[in-house]
Amino acid sequence: MGVLQRYAVRALEGMGLLLFSAMVLDALVQLHRALPLWAWSFALLAIPVAYFCADLLTGVIHWVCDSFGSERTPLWGPLLVGPFRRHHRDPLEITRISLLENLGASAIAGALVLAAWQPQPLEGALAQFATLCGVWTLVFAVVSNLFHRWAHMPSKRKPGWMLVLQTKKLLLDTPTHLRHHRKPYRVNYCILNGWANPVSNRVPWPRLEAALARLGIPTNFD
Ligand SMILES: [Zn+2]
Ligand SMILES: [Zn+2]
Repeated sequence: MGVLQRYAVRALEGMGLLLFSAMVLDALVQLHRALPLWAWSFALLAIPVAYFCADLLTGVIHWVCDSFGSERTPLWGPLLVGPFRRHHRDPLEITRISLLENLGASAIAGALVLAAWQPQPLEGALAQFATLCGVWTLVFAVVSNLFHRWAHMPSKRKPGWMLVLQTKKLLLDTPTHLRHHRKPYRVNYCILNGWANPVSNRVPWPRLEAALARLGIPTNFD
């Protein structure tokens, strides 16, 4: 990527991060304002549920980026495919890049989803709960690459709180994630906290890819 193109991508990522933060804050304020007092415990339950759902979502996105498209595919290539492919070649690069580069592409994707979805307070506790789960899932999915970065950080650079949270598996822990970095790169796709890895590891990814290849969507998994 040329210098100008790199600056353009960074600027796009910066705008995406600002836009996503503003949009998600607005959505959460609107949704919580509409909640009756008794429903607040429900609303809090949405957070751990979303923490699991977002982990599963990162697994699916990671599989897509590892398996389809190329680093030269317009827009999708430099923003999503490139970082995942480079990450396999140089797993520690993610600890050297700026936080903007680390989070920007996910924020752009999150802002596009929010713009299309426009979550509103709905009638009924279940619909309200599902909407909150959806918004929190987006928040966690956007920050997942930061937790992924922390899993690759050398232990001596990690602050104490991070080590404790990783050991307790509240954040993605290093040994769990490093299993993904061993050939054939087919396990532990989830990069937020690893809670959904037992589920994603049961998905027959190669068979899915073969089915998609028959539909004209070839994988370039190496
Ligand atoms: Zn991967
Ligand atoms: Zn990794």
